[in-house]
Amino acid sequence: NSVRNEVMIVQRTCEDEFKSLGNIRVYCRIRPFLPGQNKKLSTVDYISENGELLVVNPSKQGKDGHRMFKFNKVFGPAASQEEVFLDTRPLIRSVLDGYDVCIFAYGQTGSGKTYTMSGPDALSKEEWGVNYRALDDLFHISRNRRNTISYDIAVQMVEIYNEQVRDLLLSNGMQKKYPLCHSQPNGLAVPDASIHSVKSTADVLGLMQLGLANRAVGATALNERSSRSHSVLSVHVRGLDMETGASLRGTLHLVDLAGSERVDRSEATGDRLREAQHINKSLSALGDVIFALAQKSSHVPYRNSKLTQVLQTSLGGQAKTLMFVQINPEAESFSETVSTLKFAERVSGVELGAARSSK
Ligand code: ADP
Repeated sequence: NSVRNEVMIVQRTCEDEFKSLGNIRVYCRIRPFLPGQNKKLSTVDYISENGELLVVNPSKQGKDGHRMFKFNKVFGPAASQEEVFLDTRPLIRSVLDGYDVCIFAYGQTGSGKTYTMSGPDALSKEEWGVNYRALDDLFHISRNRRNTISYDIAVQMVEIYNEQVRDLLLSNGMQKKYPLCHSQPNGLAVPDASIHSVKSTADVLGLMQLGLANRAVGATALNERSSRSHSVLSVHVRGLDMETGASLRGTLHLVDLAGSERVDRSEATGDRLREAQHINKSLSALGDVIFALAQKSSHVPYRNSKLTQVLQTSLGGQAKTLMFVQINPEAESFSETVSTLKFAERVSGVELGAARSSK
């Protein structure tokens, strides 16, 4: 029937795209200048249609201050949330066909990670980031297929701070409004974190607002906390083909990473130093895992950080990975920008697909 045909076409389109782009892709997004910032001193000199990006050090003349990078795509400062999502959608839809997908936002604090993943205002649909759009799209497609495949969608939301995983959806009262999903799907990233059934984008918006409120702790403002912890929204999909009885499962992890900026060791002390060390460790562990998969290494070092342990079942094998590399174009960010782009360069242009995982 037509829905099954549509499923086949989407699967084939995704397959073709995966083949051409590989199972890991890197999209770079340049944040626009914010009001009051000096637009004349931009580190981004040139962006090409095929993903090239030239960064310059505005305070240095000549070749030394230039460096060229190439990614699967580069979104300039004028790119809208919708444009960014359109290039992400095939990956997200593949979750309904049984794939595991991880989407990360990487970059220094203030470079637009949260803007890309969530958007500046959950109440403004036009400004929604990837996560709300993804859920909206998954619900839309699953409704269209409802006569052929019956889907159940459930979400978890955790924060990883100082190598500790915290369930953000665990609070009194929440379970009445958003029931816990009792039949736990296999391969949960964090088996003991609560998992809630969701039926609509409104449910997801409600849950995420509660999760975000839980994220701010004590005297630490949400912004400060969110720049020093990783947040992971995991969407678990189970589908049952009503004609054949075949079942499938796919998981989408949407990860807003902690700020990647290097902290001056001579200045940071106490809690700040400890946080910085944990962030550094987990971001380099993530880079090492992706690099090992790309090299088809027989040992993939998942155990080196909580982040890579949590995502282990969705990194490698047939899983798809997308890294958004966020860039702040201001001149003072030049050296952070170059180190962000070098990290991304290491994980880009490599193929995870055929890699053997050691899990
Ligand atoms: P991060 O999560 O990396 O710390 P944010 O997402 O909080 O950064 O972005 C920092 C600031 O820049 C916020 O005020 C955000 O609204 C703004 N911003 C980021 N990206 C964009 C964009 N593409 N368009 C408009 N404003 C943006």
